[in-house]
Amino acid sequence: MAHRISELPSYAAAVLAALESAGFEAWVVGGWVRDALLGSASHDVDVCTAAPWQESERVLHAAGFAVHRTGTAHGTVTAVAEGRPIEVTTYRVDGSYSDARHPDSVRFVSDVREDLSRRDFTINAMAYHPERGLLDAFGGAGDLEAGLVRTVGDPRARFEEDALRVLRAVRFAARYGFELEASTHESLAAFASRLAHIARERIGQELAGIFATGRMAWALRCEREVMTCAIPELAPLVNFDQNSPYHTLDAYGHTARVVSGAECVTAGCAGPALRWATLLHDIAKPEAYSEDASGRGHFFGHPELGAAKAAAIMRRMAIPAEIVREACALIRLHDHPVTPRARSLRRTLLRCEELCPGRGGALAFELLDLKRADALGKAPRCRSYCSELDEVAAALRRELRAAAPLSVRDLAVNGSDVIRERGLEPGRGVGMVLEGLLAAVIEGGIPNTRDALMELLRFGG
Ligand code: ATP
Ligand code: MG
Repeated sequence: MAHRISELPSYAAAVLAALESAGFEAWVVGGWVRDALLGSASHDVDVCTAAPWQESERVLHAAGFAVHRTGTAHGTVTAVAEGRPIEVTTYRVDGSYSDARHPDSVRFVSDVREDLSRRDFTINAMAYHPERGLLDAFGGAGDLEAGLVRTVGDPRARFEEDALRVLRAVRFAARYGFELEASTHESLAAFASRLAHIARERIGQELAGIFATGRMAWALRCEREVMTCAIPELAPLVNFDQNSPYHTLDAYGHTARVVSGAECVTAGCAGPALRWATLLHDIAKPEAYSEDASGRGHFFGHPELGAAKAAAIMRRMAIPAEIVREACALIRLHDHPVTPRARSLRRTLLRCEELCPGRGGALAFELLDLKRADALGKAPRCRSYCSELDEVAAALRRELRAAAPLSVRDLAVNGSDVIRERGLEPGRGVGMVLEGLLAAVIEGGIPNTRDALMELLRFGG
């Protein structure tokens, strides 16, 4: 079968040519080949070669490329060609895996086919060379065409070797909207529990990768076993009956709907903090559950409890600190009431600013997106809340245009004014007066203008 493949960039062709003219076979492998066959050649180029890494280093250096030793234990050096990094790795196979993740050893080999056979999925196990064409020993091109994620070789053996592949399979299926080939799929659930042996930051990276596809909700709905093993705290949400007139779904089904709701309300452009917040916003509902005399369910305190729990989950997976802070602030505020009235808007902005200093305005809009998504995941009677939130968003934009202050730094007067007008010494007292002025603006409707605040300083409270 002839396959159309995008043209290899000149800098990558130059690296292949340098290795081959020194007598070492070399191929482009992995993601670039896969994406080039799909018609998008924007992926980084990875090269594999028969050359031992010391030879790759010598040859590429002699050809004028900068070369860095980025992973020589696994045979990898990185050449910089036309300002672009290209990983060059010696053909290798992985030794046995005793910890379900790291090969205990790698063995360098001379046949590229052996190298391809250690790769996870057929669509990732193709090699390409501009003259020799596509080397596709496992039917990767056919699977790309059919839209299938299939392991190279027996799925059970491959997932047993490295359980992270379970999550990688879900990520690649989500990314391309592919299906999992039947026996690959069957083995996913069987090996998902082995994710417990995988380094947590690797799980975090794969989950971030699934979020980036915009199809996390699909993963939650269709690969529940895998997702609840990736984040065990999600398991108690499954079949958790909320006993609430606001909900028709169990807590897990609601969560999946809120996750997809965020993609809808942001047209697929949700930021990582909002995405994590949708996934974890109700994570503490089971432990916060109580029933009133009528048998109706309540979840008092679940936003605060949930924020603390989400922080622990995200931190253990090494999610960047600023994403954790923002996601947890959103979770904490997700039930915070907000109306289009100025006072409510200012309160919300102030809470957002307190939790994420300097980002209050942006966080408030993300909070409205979370609330919209949350409403979409509730009973039909709650959905009209979305249009109310449109009004809130419009009012919030007006409020921010009017430059409402969020902190004493935003006030139209400063500490020197307080010292001069009140005859105070510099120190805590000055800050307290400024806080009082801020409260007067936010709560009391005093305009944030120099005239109004100076008047208050001179004559008022
Ligand atoms: P992405 O665009 O997501 O980076 P990629 O194909 O480059 O896609 P990487 O995770 O960067 O994926 O890995 C590069 C290649 O290494 C893969 O295409 C695959 O051939 C191989 N590979 C990576 N991780 C594994 C694994 N856990 N088991 C087997 N092969 C793997
Ligand atoms: Mg990659």
